[in-house]
Amino acid sequence: MWNRIEDKVSRGERLSSEEGVYLLTEAPLVELGALANEVRNAKTDPRIVTYVIDTNPNYTNYCTVDCHFCAFYRKPGKPAADGYTHDVEGVMNMMESARKVGATTVLLQGGLNPEIPWSFYTDIIRESRKRYPEITPHFFSAPEIHQMMEVSGLDMRGVLQALYDAGQRTLPGGGAEILATRVRKRISIKKGGPDTWLDVHRTAHQVGMRSTATMMYGHVETPAEVVEHYDYIRALQDETKGFTAFVPWSYKRGNTPMESKVPVIAGSSQYFRMLASSRLYLDNFDHIQASWFSEGKKTGQISLQFGADDFGGTLFEENVHLATGHVNKTTVAEIETLIREAGFTPAQRTTLYDILKVGEGPEALSNLSDDVPLFVESLRELPAEYPAELEGEEPGDPLVMPR
Ligand code: SF4
Repeated sequence: MWNRIEDKVSRGERLSSEEGVYLLTEAPLVELGALANEVRNAKTDPRIVTYVIDTNPNYTNYCTVDCHFCAFYRKPGKPAADGYTHDVEGVMNMMESARKVGATTVLLQGGLNPEIPWSFYTDIIRESRKRYPEITPHFFSAPEIHQMMEVSGLDMRGVLQALYDAGQRTLPGGGAEILATRVRKRISIKKGGPDTWLDVHRTAHQVGMRSTATMMYGHVETPAEVVEHYDYIRALQDETKGFTAFVPWSYKRGNTPMESKVPVIAGSSQYFRMLASSRLYLDNFDHIQASWFSEGKKTGQISLQFGADDFGGTLFEENVHLATGHVNKTTVAEIETLIREAGFTPAQRTTLYDILKVGEGPEALSNLSDDVPLFVESLRELPAEYPAELEGEEPGDPLVMPR
């Protein structure tokens, strides 16, 4: 089977479902990564790994959907001490915070809160475009589009056209989880089947938006259901060419209703397999995103040998994974250092994957300044300043190991 897949990939032939399952289960992992990287190198500049400066705030954590994998939401009608719903000015304060840290993308999402009026959604886009034209409003996942249909009385195209007219050009891919009917019934029954997500993205592409395709794996899905997910998004990409990238991440179970039902967490090897298999199977996607955030910084670096060409965002604010107890923070300097240390040249990109600035290559590691934190994992806050001297150290001793 492996030789057949290598031959098909070298001839540019599309892989079958059976071959997709084999990639996810039995294919030799190192060879799989090497083949995925060959395809990556043919599609994007082999030297460059991109990243975006972004932040992921939320406008409300009240939600009616009760997804079993979610630790983020609070139930409407049951006031919670930590429940919140921001108004337009509240969102503008988030945009201002994003501007101050140099973000070019704000990925804003919220729970499905029926008390929020339709005008809020278009107002925050319009105000963002007016006040922060340098920031791309990458707002609202597919379930939120359905919520807007409820409160506006508009159909899907009417909602998405109104968002487009207000200035929105890209849609994040959240809410896909695994696009397979059985899985969605088990983990998010109120969200409906795969079509509820696919129809939103198809219509968004038709009104002129681009979007990302995501996948949250590592819970109740089978390899065949992952391939079913790949099949749906590959077919939609054939139809519309509207997806910019594929972005997988593993389920984080802490504090979620189905925590006890998922005894084994997906590890790094499974993540590498997801990335490499998606690079080979999703032959009509240009970009595959690796995440330092969801899988850890060192796993993120190794992912760059498994077909990924993008390192995701800086995610200066993130609350959904945080609610599960998963915490990971970084800085632009650290992201660039991680990319260089993995052997690539970092390049800052836009939401649409256009390159804004190419940084120095791996050789710049030797000029690393003392204030670049190296691979600091899972800190709630990065220290404001690194200590000039450590206890017991002679003044003037170097803080970093010589290279
Ligand atoms: S994942 Fe989204 S839609 Fe589901 S409960 Fe959480 S906030 Fe609501």
